[in-house]
Amino acid sequence: MQELTVKVPPTKACEYKIEIGTDILGSVWPKIETAFEKSGKFVITDANVEMAGHLEKLLQGRKIPNFVISPAGEKSKNMSTIGVILEAMEKAYLGRDTVVVALGGGVVGDIAGFAAAVFKRGVAVIQIPTTTVAQADSAIGGKTGVDSTLSKNAFGVFWHPSAVYIDVATLKTLDDRQYRAGLVESVKHALIADEGYFEFLEGNLDAILQRRCEILEKVAYNNCRIKAQVVENDPTEKNQRRILNYGHTIGHAVESESGFELLHGEVVAIGIVAAGLIEIEMGIGDCGRLERVKKILTALGMPTAIPPKISKKNVMDSMRRDKKAINKWPRFVLIDRIGSVHRQEGQWAIELGQEVVEKALDKL
Ligand code: NAD
Repeated sequence: MQELTVKVPPTKACEYKIEIGTDILGSVWPKIETAFEKSGKFVITDANVEMAGHLEKLLQGRKIPNFVISPAGEKSKNMSTIGVILEAMEKAYLGRDTVVVALGGGVVGDIAGFAAAVFKRGVAVIQIPTTTVAQADSAIGGKTGVDSTLSKNAFGVFWHPSAVYIDVATLKTLDDRQYRAGLVESVKHALIADEGYFEFLEGNLDAILQRRCEILEKVAYNNCRIKAQVVENDPTEKNQRRILNYGHTIGHAVESESGFELLHGEVVAIGIVAAGLIEIEMGIGDCGRLERVKKILTALGMPTAIPPKISKKNVMDSMRRDKKAINKWPRFVLIDRIGSVHRQEGQWAIELGQEVVEKALDKL
């Protein structure tokens, strides 16, 4: 027998800029042209974003090959959409120098990022997020992928964008329920990382709900600052990046038990309240803090309790099937005060007895 060792050097570190502004969509294309002068371009968007006029605003009459995902939304986030997109890119004679431009919400961003990652073994992607979820969360951090018929985000890769352009004015055409639910990720960022930002959200709720762009720019900036810092410290979610799952573990379980009738932000709101109850149970939280959190979630129009038709026993069972579970039970992210995640032995997501979670769910 003969043996050899292949030493592969670590992949190159990357950095990218996030530009945030109001009504900047119309001036983004010339910047992409300058940065990727000789590259082929391919835009991926969805039917609602196109209908809202954002594709036209981005391209301003330029004839750029594009793919409009239809129907829009989660039902198209699967491998067959990826296959169709990749073939459309090939038919457009695109090569390894291509830049894919993702214009839309988290679904478009996740699909476009994944398509870019696998097209000719990887081409650049630029994210232009147009929802509160995508501007706060999915456009930054490099997670891409699609769902399987069994679970969400089952297939995917880390593939960081080359640039992110956030035009907060695009949020004006977003449906009200989607708009509000997406803001829960902003509340989550404030809870895990920055009490000052939490106070800012509390103090500017009316302006945020009125979609006042100067305030939305500040919201976007704070979200990107917080998420980017966590991602820089732990890009592949070995430990600290798990804090971005605050409220998500119980939230995901409620989401699947609701048959995906509730929006992601709505179930994360329930999960955040559940985390607050667990924190009280463990002596690291208090009722005053939980009331403050509930107040902001209620003002956003979010549910703060598990709907009666969902069985708490099934929610517990669903948690045992969580994809991040170890030994059929997930770890939990908790805070010890607003802006500070509770750590145990260097771990940011901690082990908890099932009875503690059960007790908290009983009060929810
Ligand atoms: P989405 O992309 O489905 O957008 C929600 C709806 O709004 C869709 O119908 C869409 O067509 C429409 N829309 C988007 N922008 C619009 C605009 N400006 N005006 C009018 N309509 C508009 O959903 P989402 O909430 O943005 O994202 C959810 C997805 O993001 C999920 O698939 C989730 O898994 C993923 N996600 C990924 C990450 C990540 O790190 N990659 C993080 C969070 C969420």
